[in-house]
Amino acid sequence: MRVGVLSFQGDFEEHGEVLRELGVEPVAVKLPEQLQQVDALVLPGGESTHFARILKRYGFADVLRRWDKPLLGTCAGLIVLSREVVDDDPGLTLGRLNVKVRRNAYGRQKDSFEAILRVGFNGESKETTGVFIRAPRIVEVGEGVEVLARTEEGEVVGVLQGRVIGLTFHPELSGETFFHRLLLRL
Ligand code: GLN
Repeated sequence: MRVGVLSFQGDFEEHGEVLRELGVEPVAVKLPEQLQQVDALVLPGGESTHFARILKRYGFADVLRRWDKPLLGTCAGLIVLSREVVDDDPGLTLGRLNVKVRRNAYGRQKDSFEAILRVGFNGESKETTGVFIRAPRIVEVGEGVEVLARTEEGEVVGVLQGRVIGLTFHPELSGETFFHRLLLRL
């Protein structure tokens, strides 16, 4: 099994480490042609405006709107996978997750923080630490979307729709393997 990590910006190394821990070789994806060689794809964090530009320029956008293999988007990755961004449009969304998100939604004094999360899927559940970096908020969860992770206050921070996972935090930075394992199972 080969899992691609979009590698224009963002945490290729950190996602790669989690994938290697699960016995999978990560592939740095820089061109849409490479999508034919991978079985799943990670869209890492970074700056969603930058991602949006590159996804358009290199012709990823149309392919990823139709791609039926599993996807995992963290932070900026979630933003581009969403249906709609309120306020600060990054310039493109792929509409793969029926959620509305707000970028940089925690304000300046909380630019980066960690929070205890409860995560679960299919009867398996656990606690983990979520690392949030200039994170977006999921402000509306639409039809067809399952919740994978919540904060202790009950806020939704991780979702699944079909074979697409979206997280507002960075599991690769706390070494959490739950979501990458799920990606491999999907
Ligand atoms: N703040 C970034 C954006 O809005 C996302 C930050 C991240 O991916 N860690 O695009």
